Amino acid sequence: MDVSVVLPVFNEEDNLQPLHAELSAALRGLKRRYEIIFVDDGSSDRSLDVLQELLKKDAHLRIIEFRRNFGQTAALAAGFDHARGDIVITLDADRQNDPKDIPTLIAKLEEGYDLVNGWRFSRKDPFLSRKLPSRIANWIISAATDVKLHDYGCTLKAFTKEVAKNISLYGEMHRFIPAIASWMGVRIAEVKVNHRPRVSGTSKYGISRTLRVVLDLMTVKFLLSYSARPLQFFGMIGLLSGSLGILLSIWMTIQRLFFDIALADRPLLLLAVLLIFIGLQFITFGLLGELQTRIYYEAQDKPVYAVRQVFERSAAKRAPVKRAVSKAKKTTRS
Ligand code: UDP
Ligand code: MG
Repeated sequence: MDVSVVLPVFNEEDNLQPLHAELSAALRGLKRRYEIIFVDDGSSDRSLDVLQELLKKDAHLRIIEFRRNFGQTAALAAGFDHARGDIVITLDADRQNDPKDIPTLIAKLEEGYDLVNGWRFSRKDPFLSRKLPSRIANWIISAATDVKLHDYGCTLKAFTKEVAKNISLYGEMHRFIPAIASWMGVRIAEVKVNHRPRVSGTSKYGISRTLRVVLDLMTVKFLLSYSARPLQFFGMIGLLSGSLGILLSIWMTIQRLFFDIALADRPLLLLAVLLIFIGLQFITFGLLGELQTRIYYEAQDKPVYAVRQVFERSAAKRAPVKRAVSKAKKTTRS
């Protein structure tokens, strides 16, 4: 299999047939073997029936039916797990992404990138409820992570198999896929893609998403930067707070002992005590975090690094990321 296309579907009954026609036309043009994976994310309309009708006519289709609505991220993750292609493409099932962009994405990927992200440079969505929050979210994500892109929310993306298979997604993290993938050191490119207004069905998200994005961003940022060294994060706060508290206490002690300045009516004393306590607590959090980290990585045999390739004089083979990692890990340990 050369190309797998993954589409999350949640109540898109009227979009599926025209989408399938467009998608098939674009994929046939590639002259490669392909499959189309529709993940029905617990739709309550006729989406699944429509998909089953399509399956009867087109053997390229595969349908994964969720038992209930698990969300777009889970649907994408299921698609990645089931994909058999060397290249995995994701796009929305609401026809807002244009299948005609798929060849461009693949061409870019084959220039040697691991992930190609679509950029909806003229986005056709309402300004106040969608474009503005998205612009803010893009700005924050770009400032907080090392991955600089214009449009993190665009589902139209292309991945190499190695990346699609090795990325683990939780919650509503699909817009952080490039950032999460950056952990394993991926080459990321961005291409401008077409975007169209939604013609049928309704958008599944509202403005409340922006705040949730900010919370998710904290998780991603913490996991990316400090999951292997939590004490450096919590401990830093602890040390700063604790030392400030101790300095204040010393200063007040000197004032009390040598300059006879009373302590009882000084709010600064409370602050100093508070800072010392907070400092101790943060350092303790950090140490507990270090314990958790060891359990997290060792209990599941999770790698703390990712190998792209191993070069040897005898036989230079391109090794898949995961296998190369766990093998290397075992030999270094024993
Ligand atoms: N979607 C999904 N599960 C959900 C919500 C959305 O599979 O719980 C799918 C939806 O069917 C669509 C894609 O995710 O194919 C993007 O959803 P939507 O168009 O509502 O998001 P927007 O384009 O407005 O950001
Ligand atoms: Mg949409």
